[in-house]
Amino acid sequence: MTEQRLAGGRTHMCGSLRAGDAGGRVVLAGWVARRRDHGGVVFLDLRDREGPVQVVAHPDDAPEAFRAASEAKLESVVLVRGEVRLRPEGTANAGLATGEVEVAAGDIEVLSMSDTPPFPVEDDVQVEEALRLTYRYLDLRRPEMTGVLRLRHRMFGTVRQFFDERGFVDVETPTLTKSTPEGARDFLVPSRLQRGKVYALPQSPQMFKQLLMVAGLDRYYQIVRCMRDEDLRADRHWEFTQLDLEMSFASEEDVFEVLESLFARVWREYLGVEIRVPFPRLTYDESVARFGTDKPDTRFGMELADVTTAFGATAFRAFASAIERGGCVAGFAAPGAGTWSRKELDALVPEATARGATGLVWIALEGGQARSPVLSHISPEEIAAVSEATGAGDGDLVLLVADQPGRVAVALDGLRRLLAARLGLVPERRWDFLWITEFPVFEWSEEEARWVAKHHPFTSPVSDDLEPETARARAYDIVLNGIELGSGSVRIHRPDLQRRVFEVMGITGEEATDKFGHMLEAFRFGVPPHAGFAFGLDRVLMLLSGKENIRDVIAFPKTSSGSELLTGAPSEPSQEQLDQLGMRFGPLGR
Ligand code: ASP
Repeated sequence: MTEQRLAGGRTHMCGSLRAGDAGGRVVLAGWVARRRDHGGVVFLDLRDREGPVQVVAHPDDAPEAFRAASEAKLESVVLVRGEVRLRPEGTANAGLATGEVEVAAGDIEVLSMSDTPPFPVEDDVQVEEALRLTYRYLDLRRPEMTGVLRLRHRMFGTVRQFFDERGFVDVETPTLTKSTPEGARDFLVPSRLQRGKVYALPQSPQMFKQLLMVAGLDRYYQIVRCMRDEDLRADRHWEFTQLDLEMSFASEEDVFEVLESLFARVWREYLGVEIRVPFPRLTYDESVARFGTDKPDTRFGMELADVTTAFGATAFRAFASAIERGGCVAGFAAPGAGTWSRKELDALVPEATARGATGLVWIALEGGQARSPVLSHISPEEIAAVSEATGAGDGDLVLLVADQPGRVAVALDGLRRLLAARLGLVPERRWDFLWITEFPVFEWSEEEARWVAKHHPFTSPVSDDLEPETARARAYDIVLNGIELGSGSVRIHRPDLQRRVFEVMGITGEEATDKFGHMLEAFRFGVPPHAGFAFGLDRVLMLLSGKENIRDVIAFPKTSSGSELLTGAPSEPSQEQLDQLGMRFGPLGR
C-alpha cells in the first residue's frame, strides 16, 4: 500500500501487519471474520481489505475488551487498540501474510453490530449466485472479490498510463444519445421534454469517436460503459466496459502495433508472461476453413478438412443428398479417441445436433480396422481419403458432418473444442493471441431480409467493389484462446463510399439522413483517414483473474435474465413517471 493517512484514527491496516511491527501499539478497525474461544481467551480474526490479522482478548489483561470480543457477532465492525506481538513459538500461520503476529487487545469498541450474514463471508464458500448477488456487498467483502475489484482498478490505471504515454486523449462521449449500430438491440430512454422521442444508450461510442477525428483530436481513447440488449452468456454482459480507441491517419499496422504493445504490457505486468508479438494473423476465410469459426482456439490442432470431393460419388445417402443440396462434408481427427467405446462415441451425436448439425458420423480407427455405425455405407477408399485429409492415423477418431457450410462450421467448431477439452489437449497457461482480418463487409440477415454490416456500417471495404457476397472489409478482431476480445476497422472516410455502403444495406434517402445524416454531413468538412478498435475490459479481466463468469469481475452485475437482485431493478415505473413521459404500457406480451 502507498503511504496514506488512515481515516478514523487507525494506525495500520489489519492485513498489513508483519513481524517487524511487533512491539508497536496499533489502532485497527475491521470486520470480525472469525471468533474462537480457547481456554477462556477469545481470538478474533479482524479483516479489512488488506486481509485478516489475529486479535487476542484476555480476560485478565483487558476485561472490557474481552467482554466486547465475546459479544461481537461475526461481520460486526470493531475498533481495536492493542499491541502487536510475535505469536508464541510454533503457532505462526505460514498461510497468512500476518501469520507471524497477533494483536493483544487493550480495548475493543464495537462500531456496528452485524446480524447473522446469509452466507459465510469467506473465499471458496459454496453459495448460490442469486444469494451472492442479492447481498453483493457481503460477497464483495470476501478477499477474493475485493482482490478482483482492486485488480480491475490497477489494470485500468495501467491502460490509462499506456495511452497517455502514447499521446491519446481521453474524451467522454454521451450516454443518452442516438442509436449506434453494433448489431445488438438498443436500450431506449424516453425523453420527458420531447414527448414521443427516445434516446438510445450507446452500444459503443463509434460515431462520436469518428467525429472526434474529424474534430482533429488525432488520437482518442476512453474506458467507456456500453450497453447492448442481447442474450447474456457467461462472457457477455449488457452493461460492459470497453477500451475504445481511434487514430487519425492510421492504417491496420498502426492499430495492431498499439494493441500488441498494450496487451504485452498488461500480460507482463499482471501475469509475468511475455507474449509473442506481433500476433499471428489469419484471414476470416482461412480461419473459417481451418477452424469453422472466426474465433479459433489455436492452442491445439485438430484442424478441419473439407472432404466433400472424397464423397463425390458416395453410396452413403445422407452425404450424397447434403452435397446435392449444395452442402459440404467436413470433419477433423481427434487424436487418441479411436479407442473410445461405442457408447462414448454415440454420445457425441447429440452433442453435434445440439450444435445445429443434422447428424454426425464417427469413424474410429483402431488396429488397422475402422469402426463406424455407417461402415456398410462408406467405402474403404472414402475412409482412406478422409483419414488422409484429416491426418487421422491408427488410434484416432474421425468426426464428419454434412450440411450447409455455415452449419457444418458451427457444429465442427463446437465439437473440436469439446473433444480437445475431453482429451486434455488444451494447454494451460498458454496465451494464443491472434488477429483475424478481412472479414466480409456484409452479412445476410434472415430476420430483416436484407444485407447488414458484419462489423458496423462505417467499416472500409478492402476495395471499392461492394458485391455483398464477396466484399471484404479492412476489419480485424483480436482473438485470444478462442475468445473474441475485440474488434476494429479502418473506417470509410469518403461520403460517396459511405453512401454506397448504406445503399447495399437498403438504407437510402430519408432513412440515411435520419440515422446517419450527422456523419454524412461531417464527412463534407475534411475527414482524416482513420482507424480504431475496441475491446471488452471485463473479458480481459476475466482471463487475467482466472474467473469463468464475467459477473465475477463486475461489482454490481445483472443476472442472465437482466435482474439486478440487489436493488430489484428493473422495477415498475410509477403512474406519475409514466404521465411525465407521456407513456403507457400496452398489454403484456405485445
Ligand atoms: N465500435 C466497435 C465495437 O464496439 C469497435 C470499433 O470498430 O472500433 O465493437
